Formats: sequence, C-alpha cells, structure tokens
Amino acid sequence: MPLPPPSMPVASPLPFDHAPDGPVRLYALIPSAGSGSRSGAAGPKQYQRLAGQRVIDHTVQAFLQVGLLSGVGVVVAPDDRVYASADPRVRVWHVGGATRAHSVYNGLLALAGSGARGTDWVLVHDAARCLIRPHDIERLIQTLMDDPVGGLLALPLPDTLKQASPDTPDPRVTVTVPRSDKWLAQTPQMFRIGALTRALQADEASGFDGITDEASAIERAGMSPKLVAGPARNVKVTYPEDFALAEALLMTPQMTPSTTDMTRLRIGEGWDVHALVPGRRLMLGGIHIPHHSGLLGHSDADALLHAITDALLGAAALGDIGTLFPDHDPQFEGADSSRLLAHAWEQVTRQGYALANLDATVIAQAPRLGAYKTQMQTHIANLLGVRTDQVNIKAKTAEKLGPVGQGLSIECRAVALLVKAG
Ligand code: MG
Repeated sequence: MPLPPPSMPVASPLPFDHAPDGPVRLYALIPSAGSGSRSGAAGPKQYQRLAGQRVIDHTVQAFLQVGLLSGVGVVVAPDDRVYASADPRVRVWHVGGATRAHSVYNGLLALAGSGARGTDWVLVHDAARCLIRPHDIERLIQTLMDDPVGGLLALPLPDTLKQASPDTPDPRVTVTVPRSDKWLAQTPQMFRIGALTRALQADEASGFDGITDEASAIERAGMSPKLVAGPARNVKVTYPEDFALAEALLMTPQMTPSTTDMTRLRIGEGWDVHALVPGRRLMLGGIHIPHHSGLLGHSDADALLHAITDALLGAAALGDIGTLFPDHDPQFEGADSSRLLAHAWEQVTRQGYALANLDATVIAQAPRLGAYKTQMQTHIANLLGVRTDQVNIKAKTAEKLGPVGQGLSIECRAVALLVKAG
C-alpha cells in the first residue's frame, strides 16, 4: 500500500474501509440537532408544527417517498427525547454535535457503522428545508449518479448582489458584484460517503472551522462539486415569516408528481342508474332538463351527481354515497343532490385532497343533452371550487339497446383523480 504524501495527516481507519464491494446504495442523512433560536419559537424549529405536522416530519416524508433511497438517518441531540419514528426505514442517532458539520460527521460514522459502504452515496439535507419535494431529490440523484465528485442543489442568485464597506454600522455600497456566476447553496448535498467522511475527518481537529455545508468540506479536500439548479421554494425555514410562507406552500397540492410519489394520486370511479318515469323533474348534473319524464329515486335522483359523488368518495377511500346519505333516512327525501355532493366533497377535501380532474358520461336515449353539457360542467366545477377545465361531461345514447336504449332508465359513469396535498 503506498504511503500518503508527507503533507497529509494519516487518517484513522473508518468503518467502511474494509467493507466488501456490492451494488451502490443511497442514503439520506438529516442533521436535526440545532436549537433554532432565530425562529422565535420556544423549542427547536424542526419541531414546530406546520400544516398539521412537525417540520422534521415533512422533511423525512419527502425522502421516504424516494424509492431509490435505502434508508434515512436522522441525527438528533444526545439529550433529545422528542424525535422518534415508527418507520423501519428511518434510523435515529443521538449523536448530534455542537455544529452542523459535527452532527453530519457523527451521522456519517453512524451510517458507516450500520453497514453503509464508502462507495455508497449520502444525501445530506437540512431538517428545516421541509419544502423539498421527492422529484427534486430524484432529479439530483439522476444528475449526479455518474458524477466523479457529487454535488448539490443550488439556486442561481436571483437578485442583484451588492458589496458593502466592511464593519460599519451605516453600510454603503462599494460595488455591485456580477452575479452570473453566483449560486445560493441548498440541500440535499450528495457525495460518496467515503469521500465526505474523509473530508470532514480532516477538518475535525479545527472544530470544522469554516465548514458551513458538506460541499465546503469537499472543496477544501480539493474537489469541485457540481451545481444542480434547485427550486426557489427549497428554503430553510428560519424566521417567523418563513413559517407562514412554508405552511401556505405545503397546503397547496403540487401537480407535478414523480414516478415514486404516486401514493399522492388517488383514482376513483362511480356509476349510477335510475329509472326514468313520467311526472318527475329530470335533474342531471344539477341542471333541470325539460322532459316528459324524470328519474325516480329517494333524493332528486340526479344520477350524474351520484356517480360523481361516488367517484370522489371512492378515490379518497371514504366509502360510497349510500353510506354517507342512507336512502331510508327521511332527511334525504327529495334531497338536492348538489348539496349531497358538496357535503361529500367537504369530507374529501378535509382529508387533504384536491381534484386533478373529473370525467363523466351520461348515457340516455332521450332527451338530447348536448345543449346542457356546458351548464352541467360549470355547475359541477363551481360546486367543487375548481376550474371548468378540470371537469368534463360527455353524453351519449345507448343505440336503443337495453333499458337505457328503450328510455326506461338513465345511466351515468364518472372517474375522478385526486391529489393529496404535500
Ligand atoms: Mg343514485
């Protein structure tokens, strides 16, 4: 074995130095030992609640949705009695240090001690960057998997950069700094576990002085991390106003699902049929349609709204319209199905779902419904509080076949796609 050059300190052996070869794995490491005194809250900011759960839970969940990762390690303070995870893919290590770099270094040693190899990748991520999305993480991984060094998400500097006279209570601009080559470092930062641990090991003696992120340790070790453009929303929640902004963003469903966060997508189907009899008002899609007959039922028998209600309830796994509004319950006799749909939709949205789109078909031999489709679409979109282009209504006949074709009944079908907020 060649001796290291004399200028380099002899590094002590690390747990993965003699690990056998194997397929390369990826791990996430989340240092979460900070006290977060700038957030204005009494406790650490990673334990503040945002959109129904703690900051750290949002962060860990984003990583758990990335199927490429073998596990997530969370580094907490040695005396932390708050954080625990029931998910078997999450390991919690009570080895947090005085600085972020120290926590990361200890976390890397814990990761190596639990079987990670030096050639495996680690994605180190700030606990307080809870707005990271799974597809941002996946894009970083895909970009860096074949890179010799690794790199980080970063944001090209969006604002004009001013340099000020140093150490003055009354700062004035000395120069405007060209910004085209300036980036704001974000996380995750993705490096080989061996290279990053070695780089930090070399800084341990100095108390990790000047090491503000993983990339700075890698740079000091003589390597040049790759910059991968990250999203502007990937901020670290620090100040009280950040929390309000983060909460608003977390409550807004994202319509850009990646291949591995499909669990946020839910599909539902609905079907309904009612007999068409003389002397009843014909209601379809919440619209009164002039006709000699109407649909027979306990409520106003709007088969289209019933099919849509079932599709929405089905997607959210909330049962069906019959469970919610039993047809033997006198309070629903003659009920306006628009009200029933609105009530069901409220239950669905309370679970954190938003509508991606809804598509429905009315099958009726008569009357002709083409002229009413837009009215139905608008009415349903208004009921659900969505854009009209998220709702589509189709109408067709049954070619005189079967009971629908003979004008004895009207049948409706619907499919709905929901997206869970997150
Ligand atoms: Mg019905």
